[in-house]
Amino acid sequence: MQKLLEELKNNTPTSASQACSSVSMSLNKEETLSVTSKTLSNNISEENQQSGKTGQDLRVSVLNMRGEPLMPTTPGKARHLLEQKKAKVISRKPFTIQLNHQTGETKQSIKLGIDAGYKTIGFSAISNKQELMSGEVILRENVSKLLAERAMYRRQKRSKLWYRPARFLNRKKNEDWLAPSIQHKLDSHIRLVEKIKKLLPISEVIVEVAKFDIQKIENPNIAEEQYQQGTLYEYRNRIAYLVAREKGLCQFCNKEYMKGNPWRLHHIYGKERDRPEDWALLHEACHDEIHKKHLEETLKGKPSKSYKDATLMNTIRWKLVDTLGCKYTYGNITFQDRIDLKLEKSHINDAFVIAGGTSQKRCKSFLVKQVRRNNRCLQCNRKGFKPSIRRKHYGLQPYDIVAYDGKEYYSKGVHCKGTYIRIFNSLETLDINIKKIKLICYGKGLQFLPWSLKATL
Ligand SMILES: [Zn+2]
Ligand SMILES: [Zn+2]
Repeated sequence: MQKLLEELKNNTPTSASQACSSVSMSLNKEETLSVTSKTLSNNISEENQQSGKTGQDLRVSVLNMRGEPLMPTTPGKARHLLEQKKAKVISRKPFTIQLNHQTGETKQSIKLGIDAGYKTIGFSAISNKQELMSGEVILRENVSKLLAERAMYRRQKRSKLWYRPARFLNRKKNEDWLAPSIQHKLDSHIRLVEKIKKLLPISEVIVEVAKFDIQKIENPNIAEEQYQQGTLYEYRNRIAYLVAREKGLCQFCNKEYMKGNPWRLHHIYGKERDRPEDWALLHEACHDEIHKKHLEETLKGKPSKSYKDATLMNTIRWKLVDTLGCKYTYGNITFQDRIDLKLEKSHINDAFVIAGGTSQKRCKSFLVKQVRRNNRCLQCNRKGFKPSIRRKHYGLQPYDIVAYDGKEYYSKGVHCKGTYIRIFNSLETLDINIKKIKLICYGKGLQFLPWSLKATL
């Protein structure tokens, strides 16, 4: 250990107090050990901090004395600060430290890209040089089921009363009412952005609102900042629109997109008629064939389709932009940028591109799991009564972080009337007597888990 510390001192610049991320120390696995183990007894494996997608280490978020986020730092520097007692740990997942001395606060501009979705949200925060935080949020999908359950309990409870005042047709819905499961998804997006804003000094949030810009298709004369990106942008926008309208099928051969055979926009009645209903979506090969063999007539006279851009996800995305007051972009731009950068399709890569990422050094990703807090007011606020539905609330709940045998595990839940607990990490799943377990911290709300757990969830 002593040797390790000396080695560290030689490697660490003396101006370590200024928590700035611009210096990327080359850390091997040995050196990054023991940032988190300080709070634990001895030598708890740091495998959680290390694991994840390939790339640089996860960054450590740094807060100043007032609790505001500063530029994140490397695990090595964070350990240095902790050893010198210049900072304290305030959160384990994601690992966050708070400085207890004044520093110069140089902040770079950090852009946060959000790839909104039904089941998963991708997020990526980038500075000019590197990606600082990225990950994928798995949203809860049991909201409507739980509401149905709650309605059942309430109905049953009401049926036991003597006098039951009329309780129908007395609810008013707001104009911007969304179904609870959808509202929950919107709220989760906002909560995620707020959480990340507490960890990183985000200067700009960017959300992808739709696959293409429908306004540009309908009123091609709109002149705005974003529209002045030349004809290539417009062409891609039109292709994205056509793909959505034709449900991804070629209008000549009725087949899906083929690799190496890009989409082409064909003007059915020649270039003079340039309205959306005069466009056709064709494979490049099919388009060439039509013009070579003069088959243009086959596409004429078909009823023109119209496209209504009214999917729920689009509503959510626009509401998100309204609530956050953030910037937005379109999917056709994202798609093309991702192809240009030769990135594979994933929510995180999409978010990276949405944030405007190009050559930034990528970082390891978090897997963010949304865990119920179980604090329904009906259950917690029964004056003088115990909760009625949950007869017994076990001390350890799923996703609480526990220590066993000097290693860190996540709880999967208790069984055998609370005497045994099932714990897991990326390597193993164990059933252990609950007395052998030590709680490290509770896991409620948005849980930042290592990416390696993706297979076990
Ligand atoms: Zn075709
Ligand atoms: Zn053509």
